[in-house]
Amino acid sequence: MKFTAFLIKYAEIGVKGRNRYLFEDALVHQIKFALKKCEGKFLIHKTQGRIYVDAEGEFDYEEAVEHLRHVFGISGICPVVYVEDEGFEKLCDTVVTYMADVYPDRNKTFKVHARRARKNYPKESMEINMDMGEVLLKAFPEMKVDVHNPDILLNIEIREKIYIYSEIIPGPGGMPVGTGGKAMLLLSGGIDSPVAGYMIAKRGVKIDAVYFHAPPYTSERAKQKVVDLARIVSRYAGPIYLHVINFTDIQLYIHEKCPHEELTIIMRRYMMRIAEHIAKETECLGLITGESIGQVASQTMHSLIATNEVCELPVYRPLIGFDKQEIVEVSEKIGTFETSIQPFEDCCTIFVAKHPVTKPNLNVIRRHEHNLDEKIEELVKTALETAEMMIVE
Ligand code: ATP
Ligand code: MG
Repeated sequence: MKFTAFLIKYAEIGVKGRNRYLFEDALVHQIKFALKKCEGKFLIHKTQGRIYVDAEGEFDYEEAVEHLRHVFGISGICPVVYVEDEGFEKLCDTVVTYMADVYPDRNKTFKVHARRARKNYPKESMEINMDMGEVLLKAFPEMKVDVHNPDILLNIEIREKIYIYSEIIPGPGGMPVGTGGKAMLLLSGGIDSPVAGYMIAKRGVKIDAVYFHAPPYTSERAKQKVVDLARIVSRYAGPIYLHVINFTDIQLYIHEKCPHEELTIIMRRYMMRIAEHIAKETECLGLITGESIGQVASQTMHSLIATNEVCELPVYRPLIGFDKQEIVEVSEKIGTFETSIQPFEDCCTIFVAKHPVTKPNLNVIRRHEHNLDEKIEELVKTALETAEMMIVE
């Protein structure tokens, strides 16, 4: 049986009134973006509060499903068969073929659920349910009807054409990207930050990203890895504007002027400041990091106070209560893990102290930052001016 379309199901909680249009329009937009990379031509349309993806001509079914499974806001993807209305008997024949093809295992219960969107169809919904149920029972004596909890809910929708569907492939859930504003992700080459970006994008937030690159201490390959990670996240989040900041001079200057055990904290404070600067310029409503309490010295509660205090915008840390293993599981699920574990240093060891502070004292940190007064403003300005921006999709 050849599927010719998909009915897109979405959770409708919170999408009443005007929000509903915003939600649906954003969803249609994201579906278009996702299918652009897919072989075949697709027409996406909203009809009576439903979204359909019609394939125009040949298309790769598996590939299309795979792409749709990346679109936030979709709770389920139903592959649909369209047939012309050539009378009820012909329809029953088609439905029998459909059931035989889609359910080779006949040991199942079913229920026919007809909907008449076109009211001039000669049979009423209830009649269709009964009559078609009977035909199916005759064709498949092993099957049984269960009206309360069927294994197969066979939907028959009478429109200009007749739509047949029963399978629901789970979607990723969440909200369509674009319905929730925009945030700036601090994206490193590690396991955590791509997962953090994915999680916030899942709530409908568009993602921009910033990566702090420190050549020659971090290699071109390390930067390429970040671009690759952004590309994987963009399969869910849509195109990502990735800002690459040359951080070398700032890092070297901090290294020269500040105590080594505070290097990471002070470095992280400058990352946050610069990220926030770009975020504000690009209308982002918050920052996102992959931090999780206690994972490393710079992510203890004390250290987080130090990195948090330099920003005005909210900092979203969706992994804050996750164990590493839980983060790894999500990264495997979303497909970033293999790239994240490629062995390109994302931070040169000269910048990592043997015994970094785990309980930084804010006053001490602030005082040591004053060691940077002479040049830091100029260095930050240069870093911002020489930032490279690329659109990753
Ligand atoms: P990740 O696995 O995300 O790299 P991590 O465990 O290595 O995280 P840190 O290096 O302490 O942790 O970084 C904490 C967070 O700071 C990262 O999740 C990321 O959001 C941000 N970050 C760290 N390094 C960079 C960088 N070079 N460029 C951009 N953001 C960074
Ligand atoms: Mg890291």
